Amino acid sequence: MSKPTFESLCVHEHPWQLTTRPQQLPLFATSSFAFESIDQGMAIFQKKAEGDVYSRYGNPTVTAVEKKLAALAAWGSDQPASALLTGSGMSAISTLLCSLLKAGDSVLTQGNLYGGTTELFVKVLSGFGITPLFTDLRNLDAVEEQLKRNPTIRMVYGETPSNPTLSCIDLEGLASIGRKAGVVTVVDNTFCTPYLQRPLGYGIDYEIHSTTKYLNGHGNSIAGAIITHRCEELREKVWTTMKLMGTTAPPFDAWLLNIGLKTLPLRIRKHAENAEAIAKWLEGHPGVIHVNATSLPSHPDHELASRQMDLPCGMLSFELKGGLEAGIRFMNALNFCSLAPTLGDTETLVLHPATMSHLNVERAVRAANGITDGLIRLSVGIEQWEDIAADLDQALAKSTL
Ligand SMILES: *Cc1c(COP(=O)(O)O)cnc(C)c1O
Repeated sequence: MSKPTFESLCVHEHPWQLTTRPQQLPLFATSSFAFESIDQGMAIFQKKAEGDVYSRYGNPTVTAVEKKLAALAAWGSDQPASALLTGSGMSAISTLLCSLLKAGDSVLTQGNLYGGTTELFVKVLSGFGITPLFTDLRNLDAVEEQLKRNPTIRMVYGETPSNPTLSCIDLEGLASIGRKAGVVTVVDNTFCTPYLQRPLGYGIDYEIHSTTKYLNGHGNSIAGAIITHRCEELREKVWTTMKLMGTTAPPFDAWLLNIGLKTLPLRIRKHAENAEAIAKWLEGHPGVIHVNATSLPSHPDHELASRQMDLPCGMLSFELKGGLEAGIRFMNALNFCSLAPTLGDTETLVLHPATMSHLNVERAVRAANGITDGLIRLSVGIEQWEDIAADLDQALAKSTL
């Protein structure tokens, strides 16, 4: 073959190969993978050989992070787990539900889910004939009764601790009821991460994450994860849905997530320590009516949380005196903490649900889920806790003016 022209030399990838293994996971920013021969391509497409094809199906950066997440979720168990990384926490949820449910099925869930999840169930999935049924998943007798009465329920979907009052579900109890009734159990473990709580270990079938939050931890990537011991179902059914709905995670977000994962235990321990200190401090503050934190013996689920979580999580909420107006004055007075509608970053983030995340929710529905007008939610960061407390203290003083 004649030598390529200057122009063509520029266009083609110049031959390259690894001589030694990169110490850090490389970012494979490529949409497709070239085959050595048509035979190799055919073998891969027929699933007779392993190999990447197209990054919507799989990508080495994404696969490496999936394997790490699966190992973390299965830590302490002899059973292997598998994970899929998706483009967001929401796409993890929609991909899983579209994989396992069909028109005519119902999903039994709770009223105080992450707002986006409730909206997905009510506004999108119900249009495809998948009905959400809302109940209190802490009441296991009632859950068992509903599963017996209603054969259309094919899945129980929970979140523990839940937003923003940190109420908890008994994972072992829920898993056992689900197994007996032959329905799949799913738990969104975003608030805890597998470092604090491992739902698969309690017999829950699927664990969901918005890795956007604590797992990445630095607020610079969006992705989600589906993790399970049902490796074959994940590889066949769920992977096919993900591939065809196009909900795969981009390699760059996976690569950022991998960096965040390296410090997960260090960060989570500091989040937990700070949240515990702040909760105690707030409970003794004259401007505060009530604090919701599982670390406090005053929390109704304190014992359950101490049993199924290794440490308290970094989330808490508190009710300040003076209702809505005081809440608004408090938020405007903060200057060290950020007003941001996310959680799990290294920085302390503050949210006023009544005027932010739950503004469009009716007051009565809000109240039924413990979201009162003066409720403030904190995602306690990893700063020095005294700096966080000092900012809350001066803002609390201004809230009562
Ligand atoms: C943020 C969040 C989600 C949605 O995740 P995205 O990554 O924003 O799509 C789902 N569940 C919980 C508990 C969350 O906090």
